[in-house]
Amino acid sequence: MIYLDNNATTPLDPRVGEIMSQFLREHFGNPSSLYPIGRKVKEIINEARETVAKGLGAKKPEIVFTGSGTEADNFAIIGVLDAFPEKNELITSAIEHPAVLETGNYLEKKGIKVTYLPVDQYGTIDLDHLRDSITPKTALVSVMHANNEIGTIQPLKEISKITKEKGILFHTDAVQSFGKIDFKVDDLGVDLLSISAHKIYGPKGVGALYIRRGTHIMPFIHGGHQERLMRAGTENTSGIVGLGEAVRLIGEEGKKDKARIQKLSDKLKKGIEEKIPKVKFNGHPENRIKGTLNFSYFGLEAEAILLALATKEIFVSTGSACSEDSEEASHVLQAIGLKPEIARSSIRMSLGRFNTEEDVDTVLKELPEIVENLRQISALDIDEE
Ligand code: PLP
Repeated sequence: MIYLDNNATTPLDPRVGEIMSQFLREHFGNPSSLYPIGRKVKEIINEARETVAKGLGAKKPEIVFTGSGTEADNFAIIGVLDAFPEKNELITSAIEHPAVLETGNYLEKKGIKVTYLPVDQYGTIDLDHLRDSITPKTALVSVMHANNEIGTIQPLKEISKITKEKGILFHTDAVQSFGKIDFKVDDLGVDLLSISAHKIYGPKGVGALYIRRGTHIMPFIHGGHQERLMRAGTENTSGIVGLGEAVRLIGEEGKKDKARIQKLSDKLKKGIEEKIPKVKFNGHPENRIKGTLNFSYFGLEAEAILLALATKEIFVSTGSACSEDSEEASHVLQAIGLKPEIARSSIRMSLGRFNTEEDVDTVLKELPEIVENLRQISALDIDEE
């Protein structure tokens, strides 16, 4: 199998799996219990918290574990808007993940004004537009770090300069950038930042929200005293242990992974452009996470390519896994100006830690043939742009 959908989810790193299963075998205690087996689990969770904090350049109390990247996004946005009842505006971008867009939608129904900043042809927001959209009623700006479909990286440092100037809070969804771009929260200047374990070779169903010390935010899930009263519910202890190990491995091997993935991705991009006519690369040519390659194949339906590749055990995506079953063309590709029919011809390949040069060579052998065969039987106009 050749797995090229690492933006949807990454395989569990066997080293993470090993640490988790050892933990599961040895520790069942509730971290809130006061006797030793509970305290021990609390200690282990706090070690993971320390590792995650270090990975982000944050301090331990600034990390709250959540049930997913989606929950971290919801927490940041709803938590801040709840904390500022006198303000009722949120600014985000048109190309966010549904975890943010649908939260915006939900808040709109509750009377919050949400501004969805447009993006240019490469998927970058316009800073002047952002500046002009901020009003005294704005509680929060939430703009993602790297886009999951096209990989474009937003100018977070510049955005945070503006939000600081205006005295408002800034959240970023770093679910796709963490582990792929070197950053520390202070360099970016963000107040809140979301991550998810299953995008970094960790387990599914666990994430974290970084909350800068002193940030005004309301708890998101109500109940017990866990997570310093910010997120109630007995912790996903093995998941947190897995997240900690995944982050530790990024610290150790992230640079090496990045260089290798970049090389493989450059080769794949060049090969597609050389071997397949009538394709269009989507995303920023430079300013993007390098392992993400999104191409439109004129005249074809992406599903047909995806299924043909799947018969060869090559797994890719037509965009975001969360909207894979939707008939709608990708909101991200439409936001960068693609017509719906071109957007629907687009395939995302996302490389990761476990891809090899052989994977790339196989794709470059199979894909041109598949595209050519499909185009011969396709009724769609190949020249339509
Ligand atoms: N944000 C982005 C940019 C993502 O790509 C994803 C997952 O696809 C999420 C948020 C949601 O993360 P999770 O799957 O942990 O809920």
